[in-house]
Formats: sequence, structure tokens, C-alpha cells
Amino acid sequence: MKLSLRGVSKTYSGRRGETDALAPLDMAVREGEFISLVGPSGCGKSTLLHIAAGLEPATSGAVELDGERVLGPGAEIGLMFQQQTLFPWLSVRENVRFPLTLAHHRGRAAGGAPGRGAARVESLLRLVGLWDFRDSYPAELSGGMQQRAALARALVGKPEVLLMDEPFGALDAQTREQMQELVLHLIQHHRITTLFVTHDVDEALLLSDRVAVFSERPGRVLATLDVTFARAARSSALKLDEAFLHQKREILALLRGRDRFETQRDRLLFGLTNTQSNSGEGGP
Ligand code: ADP
Repeated sequence: MKLSLRGVSKTYSGRRGETDALAPLDMAVREGEFISLVGPSGCGKSTLLHIAAGLEPATSGAVELDGERVLGPGAEIGLMFQQQTLFPWLSVRENVRFPLTLAHHRGRAAGGAPGRGAARVESLLRLVGLWDFRDSYPAELSGGMQQRAALARALVGKPEVLLMDEPFGALDAQTREQMQELVLHLIQHHRITTLFVTHDVDEALLLSDRVAVFSERPGRVLATLDVTFARAARSSALKLDEAFLHQKREILALLRGRDRFETQRDRLLFGLTNTQSNSGEGGP
């Protein structure tokens, strides 16, 4: 399915006044395409994802799936967030099955017959390497395993579109790399229209067909870069490739083009220490 955002903007109104989170923006994610959103914290990336998911109303503009307006959350969209979202009182298998149970109770047996749902849960648990842990509870799993379960749960309803908000942001570097390899494997076998928010430029380049670089708040798209490395050539080793590093520098230069970094956290997340940002490599 094709996901389009047309003239979507967001202004939050609160007790302390209004916050312009997103400037009006257009974005079209083609069928099966994987687009990453990178940008400074607070520039509206999560807001954009929530609007695309139908979880948050846009102030202006519209979100469409294959031309049909998205008015609320639906089974055609799979969601995955950074924070722990598994139900602690359900086993891994029950967590992954949960969207099917919910759909069944709502009278929409998304997984088909119950038996077919069970087969799908099993194949996803095997795909993410959690079959041996199917009867464990979330508290018994590492952070990486919990996110693998969350990924299986996001996929169980056979969504047409996947929206992922910094899904690996809380993981250590090594686990993060394993999750990236898992997503690459998934993309190779099941292309699915995906919007992926990340702070990690390497991650964005490794996984995506295109990377949209956002300005600071109110977020707008500064540039959208095509990432053309062959899917078969994508693995962690690619991060050391000269062409990869060249594109990474291009994105960092766009991000550094901002007047300043809002927070020290940004500097750390983008790997920009004071020394590096003064090195003249497209610096501020
Ligand atoms: P990002 O994901 O890029 O870090 P967010 O979309 O979370 O950015 O936030 C964009 C801006 O909107 C920030 O200034 C944030 O404080 C504000 N914001 C986000 N959610 C709300 C909300 N529910 N109410 C008011 N302001 C919000």
C-alpha cells in the first residue's frame, strides 16, 4: 500500500500556549518502500508517525493509504515504539498473538481461522528467534528480545504499512546491530511500506530506500536522499564502505546546517563532539 501525507501540519495547544511541531509537509511512501526520518530531537518526527498511524489528528492536511483517508488506527498499520509496550502479564506467544485476539473479538478475524493465526504466530516467533522463549514473560527477556517480540507482534496482523518510532533506541550497540540485521532480512523477504524514525544516521542508511532529513521544529523536510546500495549488499560491513560514508557525511552536513544543536543529547546522538563539529567537515 502507498502511504501519502498531503499538507500535514501539527500545532499542539496546551496550557502554556501553542507549539508548532510540524510545518505543512508532503510525503509519499511508495508501495514496499522503506523511508527513514532523521532530524534533531523535538522536530516532530514522532508527531508525524502518530498522525500517520491515525493516533493523533493533524492540524491541517490528510493522510491516505492507497488514496483512502486514514481517520483512526486500523489493522492495516503495524506499530512499533522505542519503549517497552509488551503486556507483562502475557507470555511472549500471547503478546504476539494479541492483535489477532483483539481483531477476533471485534469480529474481524484478521488472521483467518484460529489455526492459521497460530501458524503465523509460530512462524513469526521463529523468524525473530524467539520460538524457544514462547512461554516466557517479558520480564524474563533482555531488551533486544522484547523488541524482537514487539516486531513479531507488529507484523502478526499482516499490516500493509509499518510505522516504527526509534524501535532500537534503547538498545546497546551490539543488540541494535542484530536488530538491524533482522530488519534487513525481513525487508529482503517481505517488502512492506515502512516509515522508520531514528537518530542513527548509519541505521537510516543501512535500512532505507530513502532518508528524509528534517529541520528543527517546526519540522519540515530539508532533503530526501535516495539510498541505492543493493539490498543483497546490505549488512553491518557496509557501514565502512566509502560510498556509504560519503552519504553519511552528506546527511550530517545537512543536520549540522542548523544554527545550533538544541541539546547536548543531540550532539551525542549524532556523534558530533565539539572537536568533530569544529573540524570543518561541512561543519556549522
Ligand atoms: P521528535 O519525535 O522529533 O523528537 P516530537 O514529535 O516528539 O519530536 O515533538 C515535537 C514537538 O511537539 C516538541 O516540541 C514536543 O515538546 C511537542 N509535543 C509533542 N507531543 C506533544 C503533546 N502531546 N502536547 C504538546 N506538545 C507536544
